[in-house]
Amino acid sequence: MSAPKKGALTDTEKELLQVIAAGNVQEASRLLGCKDVRVNCLDEYGMTPLMHAAYKGKADMCKLLLQHGADVNCNEHEHGYTALMFAGLSGKTEITRMMLDAGAETDVVNSVGRTAAQMAAFVGQHDCVTVINNFFSRKRLDYYTKPQGLEKEPKLPPKLAGPLHKIIMTTNLNPVKMVMLIKENPLLLDVEALEKCHKVMELICEKCVKQQDMNEVLAMKMHYISCVLQKCGSFLKDQQDKLEGLIKSLLKGRDSDGFPVFQEKFLRECIRKFPYCDATLLQQLVRSIAPVEMGNDPTALSVLTQAITGQVGFMDAEFCTTCGEKGAEKRCSICKMVIYCNQDCQKLHWFTHKKVCKKLQEQRQKHESDSAKRLEKQAKELEEKKASEETSNAMEDLSIEQREVTSMSDTLIKTESAEPIPINAD
Ligand SMILES: [Zn+2]
Ligand SMILES: [Zn+2]
Repeated sequence: MSAPKKGALTDTEKELLQVIAAGNVQEASRLLGCKDVRVNCLDEYGMTPLMHAAYKGKADMCKLLLQHGADVNCNEHEHGYTALMFAGLSGKTEITRMMLDAGAETDVVNSVGRTAAQMAAFVGQHDCVTVINNFFSRKRLDYYTKPQGLEKEPKLPPKLAGPLHKIIMTTNLNPVKMVMLIKENPLLLDVEALEKCHKVMELICEKCVKQQDMNEVLAMKMHYISCVLQKCGSFLKDQQDKLEGLIKSLLKGRDSDGFPVFQEKFLRECIRKFPYCDATLLQQLVRSIAPVEMGNDPTALSVLTQAITGQVGFMDAEFCTTCGEKGAEKRCSICKMVIYCNQDCQKLHWFTHKKVCKKLQEQRQKHESDSAKRLEKQAKELEEKKASEETSNAMEDLSIEQREVTSMSDTLIKTESAEPIPINAD
């Protein structure tokens, strides 16, 4: 069947586009049942109803259209935009993921040669870029759950595909979080299972490098996951502690400043072990990490995360010190310098954090008393200035400055009285 002609819309189809723009799912559902409505009809610019819904950021509408057989890879738009590109432009990660799950091609380019990920990056929708760059369909993994060629058994037991896919899809590359994901699934907590997963990941990595449109980003991610799986396997073999010991090693900070040396070394080693030395991405990563002294920025984790997910500045305040998850809010009540998702993450970190907590507390207190002194001094200077100034103009300026000082001291008091959270030391 040839593609519908551009702009040749029936009246009901025109109505459908209006209903989509308004976000009326119920009405859209009714119209899609009409005889003279084609779900893949094209408006004068070659846009399908799905493209409209994606661009407007209407998730429910996209879902409905996909259920009615909307073609996610329709490519009739006048500038070569696809539904995935519109999803990326909308900034809605849910819709972006929906398009990918529906089979959207990620490497199609528009009329100026940009992929969906590049377009999303261009307009600053970095969360969507992350979703696209880290997408690996379950179908591609399931290939390994069927015996190929002369194989009697598949490379990956089917029951492992689900848990492994969950790890592949994570965008938090913190090794502690990855080990946690492995630890929480009994199917993966097995030396043989880990060995199989590790080997499949190396195969996928190789495929990403050798395929026609080489995907270095995905290859590096697959290699990194394979390294973590391998490490878990060897830890599980040596010590029957269900990976407790590995998590502790990854978190253990050095005495001087709490910097997790083992974690940094492990990550650097993973990157260096990438088997395709010619890869531009590898050379780029090594160049950024090699000159950095242990404990300075950037860390190997931040460099790797930025390369793979496009996330910048993820070491900021809202990320859990233990597992790197976003949106952490629980602060250590003593030093107030580290932040965690919850008490579990805090407990895991305490064995090493307790060695530097007091030092951090002193640093913070010194910093706060210094700024308090500075404020006091400023206030005094203002007082003196006030006394000496005579013109009413100057008086006016002064009162503004004073208001600023007062509001600054208010902030300071508020920070200090932040609610403490209890610590359960081990
Ligand atoms: Zn956490
Ligand atoms: Zn602390």
